Order: sequence, then C-alpha cells, then structure tokens
Amino acid sequence: MRVLIVEDEEDLASAVKRLLADAGFSADVAYDGEEGLYLALETPYDLVVLDLMLPRLQGERLLGELRARDQHVPVLILTARDAVTDRVRLLDSGADDYLIKPFEGAELVSRCRALVRRASGQSAPVLVIGEMEIDMPRRRVRRAGVDIALTPREFHVLEYLALHRGRVVSRSELLDHLYGEAEETMSNVLEVFVAGLRRKLGADVVQTRRGHGYIVEA
Ligand code: CA
Repeated sequence: MRVLIVEDEEDLASAVKRLLADAGFSADVAYDGEEGLYLALETPYDLVVLDLMLPRLQGERLLGELRARDQHVPVLILTARDAVTDRVRLLDSGADDYLIKPFEGAELVSRCRALVRRASGQSAPVLVIGEMEIDMPRRRVRRAGVDIALTPREFHVLEYLALHRGRVVSRSELLDHLYGEAEETMSNVLEVFVAGLRRKLGADVVQTRRGHGYIVEA
C-alpha cells in the first residue's frame, strides 16, 4: 500500500514515514501543499496523511481541490486544532478521519490500516478467501490453518490482490501501489514475488492473465 504524507515539519514527516514503513506502507513525503496536491493528483495513492498548516497551500484547500476533482483517495488529517467545529468542517468537506497532534504512533497506524481497508470495501481485518486467511494488521497468512511465512514484499502483493480480489490487477498498478517514488523497481520483480507466493501458498492462489496482469479469485 502506498501512502502520501503531506507535512512540512521534517522531523514529524520522517517519524510518520518510518512508522508507516514499519507497518508495511510505502510512503512518499511532500513538504508543502502544492507539491502534495501535485503528487496526490498524479499518483494512485491508497491513502493521504495530511497536515493542515502547510506552506504554499493549506491542507484544507488541498483537500478541497482533491475532492473537487473527484479524487476519492482516503484522507487522514493531522491537526493541532482540537475545536469540534474544525473537525466537523473537515469531515464534512471530505476528510475521512483525523488525529489530533500530538498522537500515538500505534493509533496513527491503526487508523491508516482501517481507512485503506474500508476504501476497498472491507471492514474485517482478516480476509478469508477459500482456505486462506490474511490477517492484515498482524501481516500473517494461514492456509488450511497452517502459518505460511511470506517475505514483506510477497505479503504486500498478496494483500493488494486480495483486497481487489475478483479483478485483474495490471503489473503497473501493482508496482504503483508497492513502491514509493524513491524506490528502484526492476521489471521482473513481480514475477519473483508471485512465484514465491505460488510456491508457498499453492499454484492456484495467484493467477496470471497473460498480457493483463494478476488475479486472486473471489
Ligand atoms: Ca505544519
């Protein structure tokens, strides 16, 4: 899952990036509102973590621009304001959730996970597909009751395909959601992860649609 952090305080931005990276998100950071808006419109993020007081373009304006352009990406607001009227106004203008600074890292991560889950129409934290159980918060997979050890990247591929099960996901869509801006990707890397998943979970779990992409059947 790929997240955009729009936050001008560099220490806080790095701390949030680290927290989310530890939870399995690929995170990009924008340090002002204009750059944040540009990236959010150009890149298919799974989530935006948005500060309100930003140089060049305020967070609330950024949110308004996103929604005005029909961008449905979930947005979690980080705010130092704790007035109820502010929070109500933000939620009513298209924010999905908010956290008041200072906040606990664990709560930020849990809220981010829940937002990403719900955006793909999923409320339960454990996805059950046939004999397979994917525990997203704990990042564990079981098949027929047996724990299966996956690498972090294998897990991310499986999680994305499983959240979008029943639909063919193209290679470029998968790569967009797996890697942040600064990360190098090699063209054959997906085949390696998919081969790993098939070896560990069984040949039928992730299927290839040649020329189109991959699918986990619903
Ligand atoms: Ca700020």
